[in-house]
Amino acid sequence: MEKRIYLDNAATTALNPEVFEAMKPYFLENYSNPNSVYTFAQQSKKAVEEARETIASLIGAKPNEIYFTAGGSESDNWAIKGCADAFSAKGKHMITTKIEHHAVLHTCQYLEKKGFEVTYLDVDENGLVSLEELENAIRQDTVLISIMFANNEIGTIEPIREIGEIAKKHGVLFHTDAVQAFCHVPMRMDELNIDLLSASAHKFYGPKGVGFLYLRNGVKLGAYIHGGAQERARRAGTSNVPGIVGMAKAAELAVQHMEENSRKIAAVRDHLIERVLAEIPYTRLNGHRELRLPNNANFCFRFIEGESLLIMLDQKGICASSGSACTSGSLDPSHVLLAIGLPHEIAHGSLRLTLSEETTMEEADQVADSLKGIVERLRSMSPLYEDFVKKQSETEK
Ligand SMILES: *Cc1c(COP(=O)(O)O)cnc(C)c1O
Repeated sequence: MEKRIYLDNAATTALNPEVFEAMKPYFLENYSNPNSVYTFAQQSKKAVEEARETIASLIGAKPNEIYFTAGGSESDNWAIKGCADAFSAKGKHMITTKIEHHAVLHTCQYLEKKGFEVTYLDVDENGLVSLEELENAIRQDTVLISIMFANNEIGTIEPIREIGEIAKKHGVLFHTDAVQAFCHVPMRMDELNIDLLSASAHKFYGPKGVGFLYLRNGVKLGAYIHGGAQERARRAGTSNVPGIVGMAKAAELAVQHMEENSRKIAAVRDHLIERVLAEIPYTRLNGHRELRLPNNANFCFRFIEGESLLIMLDQKGICASSGSACTSGSLDPSHVLLAIGLPHEIAHGSLRLTLSEETTMEEADQVADSLKGIVERLRSMSPLYEDFVKKQSETEK
């Protein structure tokens, strides 16, 4: 087996060793419950509150607007169900998009069963929502707009500033699932009209199982987990002290190096994209060419099954994905690729490669070389491709 090349950083990232070192004392030395009264516990309480301040300052928020959770899915659930619960007297209508993560989509479907009405906005061929369609979808009884900051499959970055302005103009709350974007693209809560924002540490070289919900002061949601008084009595449960400390450290490092890292990752990504598009025929790049996460490349190879591609890449030590980690194992094509207008047979041949700070040009070249060979081999076994080539040569005659 060759050396592993990990290109599935949208599914999860490696823990930064510096982050691990910051967490370690809160596993081994100070394991205290931050809510206890003795001096031993004061230190872990302080660590949690410092982490809150760090994260708040990185996004132009106030510390009391940051609520620690167990990750992106929980933050999304809380934001959406919380608004449904708190504001159903105003109305029972929500607006989201067809390309959201399942943590948002399935939560909206759950609310539909509870009597809510949800508008799922279309996106264009690049995955962008239309601001005009958004504005037209707003009604008297709309209580929440939930639109992701950046898409986890195709990397497209949505017009968050403009969406926030529309939401504000109509007095509707705006939640954004920023799990893929937070710490990868700049964002300031004091400059954007975002009322609720979800983030998750394991998508930016932090630990798994910890995230946060930014909840703008004045947005009065009830408790999501009932029990103790942690997180201002809104999210009960003993704080995940090492996780929270690790998340803040990871965020600090990521924001500090965001510009140089983005530039470096995008350069490797662009090289990979250029080679794949130039050297493998009948291939398309999915997602917006410029308004895109720096580490995302998503392709469709015609006449190929994405699953076979993944297995053959795996045999070469390359970790990739056909879309979202959450849909792998299912035979349905990605809802995101269908939403950007791809027919089923093309959406089936998708491949998502998501790079990290550690991905090198040499690795990108190795992956491009491997892909070229694998796609050729798979196509040589495809009767559809054989037919296609035959027809092509006939029309050329
Ligand atoms: C990964 C991801 C989630 C889920 O986050 P977890 O911390 O794994 O629960 C939600 N939304 C998006 C866009 C994601 O990429």
